Amino acid sequence: MQKKSFRALPEKPEKPSEPQEDRLSTSFFVVCFVCFIILSSIFVFLWSRYKEKQLYQNAVASYNQTIAGRESELKQYLDVTYRLIKSIDPNYKVSATGDIFYDVTVKCEKDQKSQYIGSEMSYYFDVNGNQVSQHKDSSINLCMAANTVITTKIIEDDPASDDVGYEVDSFPLGFIALNDGVELQHTVRVSESFGLDAGHVAIYHITYSIKPKQLLRLTQTQRKQFPQYPVLPEKPLETDFRIGFFEAIMEYSVVDIAIAVIFALFIVRIIVSVCRVKANNQRARTEYNGKMKNYNHLMEVYKTERETFIRHISGKSIRKLAGVPDNVFFTDDLLPYTKGDNRLYGDFTVYVTIYGKCYHKKKGCCGAYGQENLIKILRDHHMFHCSRCYTGDSDQIPSWYEAYLDYRKRIDFYEITEHQE
Ligand SMILES: [Zn+2]
Repeated sequence: MQKKSFRALPEKPEKPSEPQEDRLSTSFFVVCFVCFIILSSIFVFLWSRYKEKQLYQNAVASYNQTIAGRESELKQYLDVTYRLIKSIDPNYKVSATGDIFYDVTVKCEKDQKSQYIGSEMSYYFDVNGNQVSQHKDSSINLCMAANTVITTKIIEDDPASDDVGYEVDSFPLGFIALNDGVELQHTVRVSESFGLDAGHVAIYHITYSIKPKQLLRLTQTQRKQFPQYPVLPEKPLETDFRIGFFEAIMEYSVVDIAIAVIFALFIVRIIVSVCRVKANNQRARTEYNGKMKNYNHLMEVYKTERETFIRHISGKSIRKLAGVPDNVFFTDDLLPYTKGDNRLYGDFTVYVTIYGKCYHKKKGCCGAYGQENLIKILRDHHMFHCSRCYTGDSDQIPSWYEAYLDYRKRIDFYEITEHQE
C-alpha cells in the first residue's frame, strides 16, 4: 500500500498585482504649464505696475525739483523784466506779478476749399477763460510770466449730434509781446457726420491778435537786455507711464530673466517628477516581472503535480488508496469511528474525566464516563493510557488515518471535485 508518497504541499503562488501606469507625467506637465502661464502673467502684471509707479515717482520728483528751481528763476525773470520796463517807460502799466492789459481781436475765415456742412454754426473763441468775439475787440489782463491758453471751438448744430472742430494752444507771452504783440493762427476742420452732407468738411482759419494796450517801443539793444523766459516743464501724469503687458515682456530684460528663471525652475521640477515616476514604475515593473516569473514557475510545478496526483487517484477511492479498513467511517471532523454498538465512536471510543490525565478503554474505570475519540486524544491532548484497563502496546495514530488526511488535503489543495476523486 502506498502511503505518504507525496512531498510536502508547496505554497500556492499568489499572482502579484500589476504596477500602475504613469499617467502622471502628461497631466502633471499640463498643470505645471498652466501654473507657469498664470504665475508669470501675475508677475509681469505686478512688475509693470511697480515699474510704472517708480517711473512716475521719478518724473514727479524731477518735476518738483525743476519747479522748485523754476520759481526763483521765474521770480528773477519777472524782477528783471519789471525793472527793465520801468526803466524804459516809468509810466508803463505793469504789475509786479507781470500782469498787463492786452487788446485781443479774433478773425475767422472760411477756407475756399470748404464743403457745405450746414448753416447753423456756433463759434467759441477763448483766451484764458475770457470769451472773445469776431465783432469787437476785448480787453484782457494777461500775465507775462504765465501760460496763455487759447481755445477755438466751432460747432455745426445738428439735430442728431453736433459736429465739432477744436484746437487749443498754450504758450507764455513773454516780454516780446510788449512791443508788437503776438499773432496766433488756428486751423479748424469741422466734418459733417450725418445726413445728406455726411463726409463734407469745412475748414476755418482763425487769427488771434494780442496787442498790449500800451506799446513799449524797444530798440534792438533793449531787446537783448531782456532775459529768456524760463520754460515751464509739463507736469507728469500717471497715465504717461503705463507699461503694457507685452511691452513689459519685450522691453525689460529683468522681466525676461525672471520669467526664464521661473520657467527653468518649472522645467527642472517637471523633469525631476517625471524621472522619479518613471524610475518608480521601472522598479515596480522589474519587481512585478520577477514575481510573475516565479509565479509562473510555481504554477507550472503546481499543475504538473496536480496532474500526477489526478493520475494516481484516477478511478480509485482515496479510502482504498490510504488503506482505511472497510469498517471505519469518518465524522464531519474527519475523526474515525466504527458502527455496531452504542459507543459514540465504536472501537475508537475511550473514556475520560474532566481533570484526569489518563484515558480508559473500560467505561467507568476510575470513574471515567465521558466518551472521547481515541485519535483526537492522541493528537491533541497527549494523555496516557490507563494501566489498569489497558494492556499491550501504547496506542498510535494508525498510518492509514494520516494517509487518508493527506489525500483529503491534496484533494482540497489541487481543487479536485468529487467527480474527479
Ligand atoms: Zn482504566
